[in-house]
Amino acid sequence: MTDSSANERQTVLELRNVWKRFGAVEAVKDASIEVRQGEVLTLLGPSGCGKTTTLRMAIGLERVSSGEILYEGVVVDSGSSRSFVPPNKRNMGMVFQSYAIWPHMTVAENVAYPLNVRRVGRSETRARVARVLDQVGLTGMGDRQSTMLSGGQQQRVAVARSLVFEPNLLLLDEPFSNLDAKLREQMRVELKELQRRLGITVLFVTHDQIEALSLSDRIVVMDHGNVEQVGTPTYLYRNPQTPAVRDFLGRTVMFTGTVIGGGNSETVPVQLEEPGGPVIRARTTAGSVLQPGEKCSVAVRPEVVDVVRVADGSYDSAQLVGSIAAVLFVGERYEARVRLPWGQDVQIYLPVSEDWEEGQEISLHFDALQAQAWAVAA
Ligand code: ATP
Repeated sequence: MTDSSANERQTVLELRNVWKRFGAVEAVKDASIEVRQGEVLTLLGPSGCGKTTTLRMAIGLERVSSGEILYEGVVVDSGSSRSFVPPNKRNMGMVFQSYAIWPHMTVAENVAYPLNVRRVGRSETRARVARVLDQVGLTGMGDRQSTMLSGGQQQRVAVARSLVFEPNLLLLDEPFSNLDAKLREQMRVELKELQRRLGITVLFVTHDQIEALSLSDRIVVMDHGNVEQVGTPTYLYRNPQTPAVRDFLGRTVMFTGTVIGGGNSETVPVQLEEPGGPVIRARTTAGSVLQPGEKCSVAVRPEVVDVVRVADGSYDSAQLVGSIAAVLFVGERYEARVRLPWGQDVQIYLPVSEDWEEGQEISLHFDALQAQAWAVAA
């Protein structure tokens, strides 16, 4: 199902058929997830899909209802036996959304806290705190009061505190959500660099697809408590296997139509808006067979749609043509709402190398292999 290159790596954390129920709410349903040595694995999905609950079970802040969790080959929680290893015995670091930094302590005291709990000696603590502050870019800031820090610095303190005892797994729950957009981008790059430099294994939770796509080695897309699909960012983006994955990762332009005869092993022809509408070709989605006569939708990423201007009325009905209803300049491109002849609107991108105006007629083109046909329920 995935094209991951991390397949041979050792598994650090494994969830086997894990369920979590809160009364009648099934927060996590039959999740089987592996986190491998040295990778960033991200749980991605909309609010309420069960990401945080999964993370909390991983560290031991929630018990599983059934199934089991193994950490470094040892069962740390199980629905069928009494095995349970508490969070402080799991050797995992965690950064919460709120950072949970103590305001009455200095930076160094905050970072040293996990070592004090573990009764590490004073000089060893001092050396380790200095080293980890260096690693996160806070050299020399140990004496600073925690209240005198910017949002980005607080985030670094939280990361330093979670790394200081050298955990085998770092859990991050939406760690950038309190930062503004620019800082979030910067911290994303910093975290990735740090992760690569130290070779730490990370289980990351976010609802932000850009964060997930840019930071992860593999992504687990969750929806309504289900694991929908697991794979590398590029694989999932190009080969979503469920509508939830397709719609959550990136944007799509959707057309609806009917499969007509003449399909081959790779693509099927789809007539939009019968009778007499344009015919486009699209590849079928793995595991779904589309028969002639069947209703389907065709999804294509906006960045693969090429656009050509057409002079008023000078096209034939076989072409996919529309007129620009609204056009927005967003810096590196234009985003346009295009009205198709049968009244449907689609959102596409237009290059900034040309000027576009409302009312302009354009034809849309894309490679059949870049478009995916999906069966729709009748
Ligand atoms: P968000 O991004 O909003 O944090 P999430 O994907 O992390 O969402 P969870 O917090 O894991 O989702 O919640 C999954 C489901 O379980 C939700 O329906 C939530 O309301 C429910 N839930 C979580 N914790 C509890 C709890 N302690 N008691 C009852 N229901 C809970």
